[in-house]
Amino acid sequence: MANDDRPVNVGAPDPEFDAAAIEAGRRLFAQECKFIFGAASLDALPPPERTEIAFAGRSNVGKSSLVNALTGRRTLARVSQTPGRTRQINFFMLSEALVLVDLPGYGYAKASKTMIRDWTRLVEDYLRGRPSLRRLCLLIDARHGIKPPDRDLMDMLDASAVSYQAVLTKADKASSVNQVVDQVAAELTRHPAAHPEIRVTSARTGAGIETLRAAIAALAEPEPLR
Ligand code: GDP
Repeated sequence: MANDDRPVNVGAPDPEFDAAAIEAGRRLFAQECKFIFGAASLDALPPPERTEIAFAGRSNVGKSSLVNALTGRRTLARVSQTPGRTRQINFFMLSEALVLVDLPGYGYAKASKTMIRDWTRLVEDYLRGRPSLRRLCLLIDARHGIKPPDRDLMDMLDASAVSYQAVLTKADKASSVNQVVDQVAAELTRHPAAHPEIRVTSARTGAGIETLRAAIAALAEPEPLR
């Protein structure tokens, strides 16, 4: 599909989120985002007391920039990029009810076997049996789409039955976002734990940020009683 002239949905109003939902997202993310914990092993994980929304992606996917854009501050990225903390799972309290969880990046070209093994063990330990983890945002570069290391994580998420959704990053740099959205959507249908919703974002232009805030705020609401 060389000529894709559909309008790119970046930044367009999303009918799914009305003004009240956008405002709820804005209010949630206007709160202070406090670093509460860094865990380098399963033993050190904090008790699963609050709803957690996790962020994961290949190194350099734009995870720190996206979380900075969401929270409007640099706290989270600064902590997560501190030497010694880059291989930890970092927990940030956004409100009394919601914790943002920053998983260490993966897919470094220079990662040793030991580094990959340690990452896998830590992340697997976290994903397995974490009832408080409501959704994982799997960050995918809008220029490149899903890559093999992303598939490894998707397999882990499916195996742990952790609900996840794709969030495309760096949309301002991508020339064929719709094509990548289609490819990602097609691949996600083959993954049982994947949520079909795909968010397209740019930390640089702010596109898609307020709808992602609204989506996270909606997830932070207590689940309705059945
Ligand atoms: P991380 O390793 O996943 O935390 O990635 P960073 O947030 O550090 O971003 C990696 C690189 O991509 C940096 O040079 C950022 O400036 C750049 N970057 C991140 N987000 C965007 C974006 O939305 N648009 C553009 N054009 N560049 C971005």
